[in-house]
Amino acid sequence: MRLLSLPRLAFKPVRRALSASSRHYGKAVFLVIHLLVVTAFFVPVSWPAIALCVGCYYMRIFAITVGYHRYFAHRAFKTSRPFQFVLAIFGCSAVQKGPLWWAANHRKHHKHSDQEEDPHSPVKHGLWWSHVGWVISTRNDEIGEDGIPDFSKYWELRMLDDFHWVPALLLAGVCWLFGYLTGGILTDVSPIEHGWTCLVWGFIVSTVCLYHGTFLVNSVCHVLGRKRFVTGDESRNNWWVALLTMGEGWHNNHHNYMSSASIGYRWWEIDGGYYLIRALAIPRLVWGLRKVPTTKMTVS
Ligand SMILES: [Zn+2]
Ligand SMILES: [Zn+2]
Repeated sequence: MRLLSLPRLAFKPVRRALSASSRHYGKAVFLVIHLLVVTAFFVPVSWPAIALCVGCYYMRIFAITVGYHRYFAHRAFKTSRPFQFVLAIFGCSAVQKGPLWWAANHRKHHKHSDQEEDPHSPVKHGLWWSHVGWVISTRNDEIGEDGIPDFSKYWELRMLDDFHWVPALLLAGVCWLFGYLTGGILTDVSPIEHGWTCLVWGFIVSTVCLYHGTFLVNSVCHVLGRKRFVTGDESRNNWWVALLTMGEGWHNNHHNYMSSASIGYRWWEIDGGYYLIRALAIPRLVWGLRKVPTTKMTVS
């Protein structure tokens, strides 16, 4: 037992240093990706590239809402350890850091919603901070494993949290390859040129859209929209954010009862994330979907 604990103890500071540096590196990537959006004006546009952009956006917004948010932050359903890892990998491809960091910060948001300790309250810290400032600041870096012990006990998730940029890099490579393989076939643009087109539209443009789609929930959904339930904070239901984020915009519903797999309560509250969870439940990839108790459905 003592022999086994030694390498783990020695490894921990190395992992911490690696994790911290990769997170600082992540901030630089965040800024560089935004700057690189201008390259969209210098590459030829093609329909396959636009389709790839939309596809990569929705694939990753699903990964954020279903994986990072409803599963890792709130345990709204159950799944196997391998599929949990798959959800984490897809989440990492969204370039929003690792699953442990993301979910631990989000739990903190619910615990201190619109109070001083809330990592991204527009009410307490302003709209800019709630949208982007808290992500590029180093203030929220250290939360992670300690804030989410139920998932940080898995070594593969700790490893992925340290190397969260790898799936994103792989996706960027897949986008380039898709462009190269379809160049001259689905479009007149040459393979090499189409590779760069698909990298720019499929990865860079869609990642920036994805950033701001996700961040609207933190900023706009605590400022604009309807408060159906009294939740003790400023969370709102916002239909257009819900459409952009596969259901996340029904944020007042979510603050009313955070552990439910569904965020839309009414049939017309479109909740793409929940539809995907229901679809994944058919082949038993996920199960044990948690529901909103009827007592929490009553408007106060
Ligand atoms: Zn909130
Ligand atoms: Zn939440």
